[in-house]
Amino acid sequence: MTELLYLRDSYLCETDATVQTAGENTVVLDRTVFYPGGGGQPSDTGVLRWPDGERRVTETRRDGEAIWHGLDGPAPAADTGVRAALDWDRRYAIMRHHSALHVLVGAVYRLFDARVTGGAIYPDRARMDFSLEDLSKDRIADIERETNRVLAENRPITVRFVTPEEFARSNLVRLARDLVPKDLEQIRVVEIEGYDAQADGGTHVARTGEVGGLRIVKTENKGKANRRLEIQLIAPRTDSG
Ligand SMILES: [Zn+2]
Repeated sequence: MTELLYLRDSYLCETDATVQTAGENTVVLDRTVFYPGGGGQPSDTGVLRWPDGERRVTETRRDGEAIWHGLDGPAPAADTGVRAALDWDRRYAIMRHHSALHVLVGAVYRLFDARVTGGAIYPDRARMDFSLEDLSKDRIADIERETNRVLAENRPITVRFVTPEEFARSNLVRLARDLVPKDLEQIRVVEIEGYDAQADGGTHVARTGEVGGLRIVKTENKGKANRRLEIQLIAPRTDSG
């Protein structure tokens, strides 16, 4: 079992850890800052160092309660003490795009009552699919304007853990509730304060101002009542966060 440090602190980019299980080119650590991928957010990359070795972490994936770190060469033995460090610039760019999508989701819901049907996040862009039938130029402009308005308000983005009962009572939830696993004792909720809340396992920036602004650079028709919006960020992060 791996302690998932990123669930409570998305800004933690390094940790000491101990190898629990070693495969040929993979290790499970007792704790990690590496996000294993999921919910449209890609897995983290980085580096693993120990007294007589160093490897690139080329991918990370989750298997039950364990996080496997894929390495670019033979793994250190079980019980080795290591230092695990993320590629922070890449992760931070992903965090900014992930948080941007949550604001976008809130905007599309408020404007058109449309739900999310899928999405993907990259370090330099992100896309989200919505249950929308019609996406005129005017609508795209409205979505962009509303999203940028909320980003500029520099709202706090918080993470908290709630029971399934508390979650069901929440009136801010935008995703189909069936998507939330029913056997969880606690559900992690990411909230753009006063605007949007999602059950979410990913990593986010602390305030919307860190995202800057965005542009909708592409739209695609992905079938009846399904429209894809692709975004790119246009402003560097502010230092107000
Ligand atoms: Zn998310």
